[in-house]
Amino acid sequence: MTLDHRLAPEHEELRRTVEEFAHDVVAPKIGDYYERHEFPYEIVREMGRMGLFGLPFPEEYGGMGGDYLALGLVLEELARVDSSVAITLEAGVSLGAMPVYRFGTEEQKRTWLPRLCSGEMLGAFGLTEPDGGSDAGATRTTARLDETTGEWVINGTKCFITNSGTDITGLVTVTAVTGRKPDGRPEISAIIVPSGTPGFTAAPPYSKVGWNASDTRELSFSDVRVPKANLLGEEGRGYAQFLRILDEGRVAISALATGLAQGCVDESLAYARTRRAFGRPIGANQAIQFKIADMEMRAHTARLAWRDAASRLVHGEPFKKEAALAKLYSSEIAVTNAREATQIHGGYGFMNEYPVARMWRDAKILEIGEGTSEVQRMLIARELGMGDLEA
Ligand SMILES: Cc1cc2nc3c(=O)[nH]c(=O)nc-3n(C[C@H](O)[C@H](O)[C@H](O)COP(=O)(O)OP(=O)(O)OC[C@H]3O[C@@H](n4cnc5c(N)ncnc54)[C@H](O)[C@@H]3O)c2cc1C
Repeated sequence: MTLDHRLAPEHEELRRTVEEFAHDVVAPKIGDYYERHEFPYEIVREMGRMGLFGLPFPEEYGGMGGDYLALGLVLEELARVDSSVAITLEAGVSLGAMPVYRFGTEEQKRTWLPRLCSGEMLGAFGLTEPDGGSDAGATRTTARLDETTGEWVINGTKCFITNSGTDITGLVTVTAVTGRKPDGRPEISAIIVPSGTPGFTAAPPYSKVGWNASDTRELSFSDVRVPKANLLGEEGRGYAQFLRILDEGRVAISALATGLAQGCVDESLAYARTRRAFGRPIGANQAIQFKIADMEMRAHTARLAWRDAASRLVHGEPFKKEAALAKLYSSEIAVTNAREATQIHGGYGFMNEYPVARMWRDAKILEIGEGTSEVQRMLIARELGMGDLEA
């Protein structure tokens, strides 16, 4: 067996293409969108034309026939420059389209995937509710099957849902309680709700600390009726399905966090060369050099961690622990790198016109979304066999 962390030529070519796109197209424009808290339709359309929303899906559904490693490489390159566009892609692919691909019927795949893969339509994933995110089993949203009409009737509220209210949002997959198990615990199922269904409303976007050019909203469902055939996967398996989706999503978030951490290195290196204090570039001081060396060390290690998890996923091997390790490590070092990069920029680091200010604001959510750092530690401890001590 050989261990080789170098990229295959096609992966390297994709990485380079997206690196150029991020530099040439995203970087010059995204700051203005961010300041206006505006969704960057123009950039997202271009990402769709490049095939990025279809990366890990087979060509027969309009995808690019790539894999999760390819998706991670793209997310890392985008997040080196900006996290709002990266999370829009991550949520669209990993949370919006992937549940349909993994658990959908052939008809559901043919109905939704081609438009999701082209980026013409965005999908969202509605798990979190106002009363509970980490404890996703505590879902309160309900779906009752009306046997006379053959429709699910959905009632409830979801919060913090990415990509859920843009002009191009086409569907939200929601988890809802559809019954009780013999032991009295709720039976949770996943149901596709198309945008525009009567009774389904998306609130105006939240005012957020970061990710300001991405779309995040609260959703409410009031007697929303969708056909019985909109059930995604098996009835009562919604919770298990979403756990699988979240395991994969963590690999993607880890790649995104690595990109942000690397972006902090890129910006700091450039700034340390040009900013002068006491008659010489600040980068001539070993204190600054060491900060940047440590930032590079952390970004490099995070990259190895997410690529390892992605490689296991792609090869069909168990990857739950490695995904949690990668997500935990990369999100925490992204916050550290963002803090250090801002420090290196001095007062300018606190000004929104500098990308590091955006990175600083965008880093914190990485320790919260798709499972908090505490949840990652719980998962890792369980994978180490300590679950039986919790009872
Ligand atoms: C910008 C943004 C975008 C998002 N996008 C989506 C999306 O698209 N879809 C979606 O479904 N959700 C989304 N979320 C929700 C996100 O996944 C949740 O916020 C996250 O899972 C945490 O849930 P919570 O906010 O309810 O925190 P809580 O679960 O209330 O946790 C609060 C604190 O308690 C800690 N905690 C909880 N339980 C334990 C425990 N047993 N032991 C130790 N500590 C514990 C947590 O780690 C955390 O620090 C998004 C959130 C944000 C902010």
